[in-house]
Amino acid sequence: MKKVSIIGGGIIGLCSAYYLAKEGYEVVVFDKSDMSDGCSYGNAGMIVPSHIIPLAQPGMIAQGIKWMFDSQSPFYVKPRLNLDLMKWGLQFYKHANLKHVEKAMPALCNLSLLSKDLYQDFAQQNNSFFYEEKGLLMLYKTEKTGEEIQHEGILAEKLGLEVDFLSKEEVSQLEKGTATNVIGGVHYKSDAHVYPQKFMQFIKEELKRLNVKIHSQTTVNDFVLKNNAIAEIITDKGNFEADEVVLATGSWSPHIAKKLNVSISILPGKGYSFTLNDQSHKPSIPTILCEGKVAVTPMNNDIRFGGTMEITHTNDTKINQNRLQGIVNSINDFYPDLKIEMPKEQDTWFGFRPCTPSGMPIITRDKKLKNLTLVTGHAMMGLSLAPATGKIVEEIISGKKTSVDTQMFQL
Ligand SMILES: Cc1cc2nc3c(=O)[nH]c(=O)nc-3n(C[C@H](O)[C@H](O)[C@H](O)COP(=O)(O)OP(=O)(O)OC[C@H]3O[C@@H](n4cnc5c(N)ncnc54)[C@H](O)[C@@H]3O)c2cc1C
Repeated sequence: MKKVSIIGGGIIGLCSAYYLAKEGYEVVVFDKSDMSDGCSYGNAGMIVPSHIIPLAQPGMIAQGIKWMFDSQSPFYVKPRLNLDLMKWGLQFYKHANLKHVEKAMPALCNLSLLSKDLYQDFAQQNNSFFYEEKGLLMLYKTEKTGEEIQHEGILAEKLGLEVDFLSKEEVSQLEKGTATNVIGGVHYKSDAHVYPQKFMQFIKEELKRLNVKIHSQTTVNDFVLKNNAIAEIITDKGNFEADEVVLATGSWSPHIAKKLNVSISILPGKGYSFTLNDQSHKPSIPTILCEGKVAVTPMNNDIRFGGTMEITHTNDTKINQNRLQGIVNSINDFYPDLKIEMPKEQDTWFGFRPCTPSGMPIITRDKKLKNLTLVTGHAMMGLSLAPATGKIVEEIISGKKTSVDTQMFQL
């Protein structure tokens, strides 16, 4: 059986490893970190068939520019004179239109629904990662946001998702965990959630069972190319031969792809989260606080709050206290009884979402190198889309018909 080398042991790399190993491939994973933290661990854990509209959408540019001047806003592009940023911005501008959104919606929805089915299969095996189906509640405080959120709900209904449009009173009947200060909400019954760290633990145990070899703390630096294919992977721990290579390096993908003469436009969208453990008084339904774009996820006995999207670079590891304060303020505005305090810096997590300018993930065979598959750019939906992405990677490498159409996920 062929040997597949996966570069990147985040959720996308590990789910790819799982489906490949299950089909009998000999799988090796390389990751530069110790694989105990990173974007796939501290995220909000939401599985979101409801998220059918990509970041690149009409109105986003004007809204983004307004937010640039607010130090607590949920979206920010770190201005710098940089060619990659300019190219990304131009591509984002080109994609922020209705035509793109209309094509993106069914593609994202199908991928998401497949992923949810696969999460259900995992949970049936052993739900050590607290998979729950409570849907996703979108709460809003202003008429203007309410109109936008309801419009998105109607589009989702047209794609077959089950959506409830709730008044203020109906929100408090559904959310019994704590009081809410909102004018209404939209409840996507399709959505689910997990505890990301526990899921990563689960999938690593599955990989051990399937004899996948994991080389953590091993950085891939370069490649030996022969006859339009990757012959060897050069790491800081030596060279490794490979039949097939999967590149799943999240926000670091452009840098490593350059070594293969492949151009990928991805910028990291830095986001923060903090988790309060053993909370008896907490929201009971996973929620987005729409005006602040804050994600709230109950995870077993804990509660996690996450937010902000700072388009930046991977060396920017600073925690921006103003933006964190913006998250805390939103939580206290929406949930008046919670009285959340600013988390300490050491209790604040950050991660880099790998953001493509089209808002679409890349799941494709490379056009030039015949043994290379690219899987990256899942932005704010990497956890949600990971099992489906992994399954498709196996199908691509095996030469099978893919479970969903991948035309929108090309480079
Ligand atoms: C605040 C926040 C909240 C979020 N909430 C959600 C949510 O609710 N639902 C959802 O679906 N998504 C969510 N996301 C997004 C999700 O976390 C990401 O899309 C996902 O984790 C990306 O996974 P990945 O495997 O592509 O990348 P990563 O997890 O970043 O993995 C890439 C791996 O590649 C390794 N690597 C890089 N370069 C090299 C190299 N040269 N050699 C070896 N290894 C290398 C890195 O060490 C890393 O481990 C959220 C993100 C943030 C920041």
